[in-house]
Amino acid sequence: MRQWLSQRAETSPTACALIDAETGDNYTFAALDQAVERLAGRLITLGVSQGDRLGIVLSPRVESVLIFYAAARIGATAVPLGHRLTATEIETRLTHATVQTVICGRSADKTVFEAATAIENDISIISMDKSTIDSVDSVENTIPAGVNTATWNSQRTQLLLFTSGTTGSPKAVKLTAGNILWSAVASAFRVGITPDEQWLVTLPLHHMGGIAPILRGPLYGMTVVLRGEFDAEQAVADLHQYDITAVSLVPTMLRRMLNSANKSSFPETLRTVLLGGAPTPTALINQCQDESIPVCPTYGLTETASQVATARPQTAFNNPDTVGTPLLWSDITIVDESGSPQPAGSPGEIVVDGPTVTPGYAGPETMTTGAYGFHTGDIGILDTNGRLTVVNRLDDRIVTGGENVDPGEVTTVLESHPAVAAAAVVGIPDSDWGERVVAAVTPVMTERAVSNDDLRSHARDYLAGFKIPKQIRVVDTLPRTISGTINRDAVHELFMTDAAVTPEDE
Ligand code: ATP
Repeated sequence: MRQWLSQRAETSPTACALIDAETGDNYTFAALDQAVERLAGRLITLGVSQGDRLGIVLSPRVESVLIFYAAARIGATAVPLGHRLTATEIETRLTHATVQTVICGRSADKTVFEAATAIENDISIISMDKSTIDSVDSVENTIPAGVNTATWNSQRTQLLLFTSGTTGSPKAVKLTAGNILWSAVASAFRVGITPDEQWLVTLPLHHMGGIAPILRGPLYGMTVVLRGEFDAEQAVADLHQYDITAVSLVPTMLRRMLNSANKSSFPETLRTVLLGGAPTPTALINQCQDESIPVCPTYGLTETASQVATARPQTAFNNPDTVGTPLLWSDITIVDESGSPQPAGSPGEIVVDGPTVTPGYAGPETMTTGAYGFHTGDIGILDTNGRLTVVNRLDDRIVTGGENVDPGEVTTVLESHPAVAAAAVVGIPDSDWGERVVAAVTPVMTERAVSNDDLRSHARDYLAGFKIPKQIRVVDTLPRTISGTINRDAVHELFMTDAAVTPEDE
């Protein structure tokens, strides 16, 4: 079976496949297909072959997209790494993913070289940017005779994608062509896809939310508008300029867009704002309802090739806590600590089964699976209508003096204080209590200062004594991962350093 891009180039050759919003470069499906064919030929002559793992350290522009498709055509596995990592971070990832070849832009080649030389195995480095890709000659560089281009094979690992690393070191997730197909089809059934779809991609391309629409583009026959670097005002302008119908965002991005100076209203063309990667605050959903923004809160993971559950806008407005029902083919079971299924309404670990679930990690980690599928490490509740609410992560639970504290509950209380914009609650080691609850908060931009006493007395109105944070720090910004989830290790660090100099104050 041929690959989606080749088929789409035949069925819709003149339809627009890709626009780089930064440069204005654009490709029809036929032009994209030809550029990919030439690039694949060039990579084969440079030694890349079927089954290789191809690290990609390129700007989030057209060149990355061309390489993703060229890797698929050769039958190599694309390993997107982002372009802002340090040499040490690249080294860890290259080792983890046992990459044979890295493609990098000129601005990154020193860092990649430094990373590659620190690794025992030989790694080839190919330096490439848009101009070298454009100059790839069509005669010399078509795929050599006798070399078969890879056919679409559901079992082949198309992508190795690193998780965001909210709970520790990022894991390299294997995603097969089959995982990507099932996910694309299930998503289309939930949110709907039309022939005039124009999808704005402004999430990083080494993140599931950024790469998913790119890989789905030729299957849906839609136009991808790529704005590699997110800027809230620019993103709002792009929605209007390109008649965008769909966009994938994390909650922090949407909040910034709604607060941006040139907000005006979002265009009427917009039908889907897929929002995932982190919890969506109820206030944000309410704001979307007030401003008629078609928000679709989503729960998804890299390990499930993106969405597991997605709520359509009306469901979200009526039930702002939930992320809707599971997508087609994704089975969700809520289990207790012994792995037994829980009834509707009871919290437990979210376990997912279905054809979008990864076959496993590259590197040393092993997947936690049980009788009901893949254990996500997230706590959730299914209601009697089958809608999922994501509560928090299993690892986040704080145990203080033998009592369990749900950091989500404390976060919600702190965030309900009018002077608090966002809060992060973690447990840090305590010689008496095992762990003690601490919180970092960012203030709302008002004249009103946030005081520790104020916040504690507010918390006392809602929470039992052991749940009230013993230390609260006001910070300018909370450390977050690219998905917008709180980077809990970094919040820990904040207090561990602090604890060394500040004695506990309560
Ligand atoms: P790591 O596995 O390395 O800790 P990560 O889990 O952050 O990283 P991702 O695959 O990028 O890596 O993110 C998936 C996680 O994001 C989920 O397990 C969940 O904790 C969180 N998440 C995604 N969507 C939501 C949502 N709607 N509400 C709450 N949390 C969400």
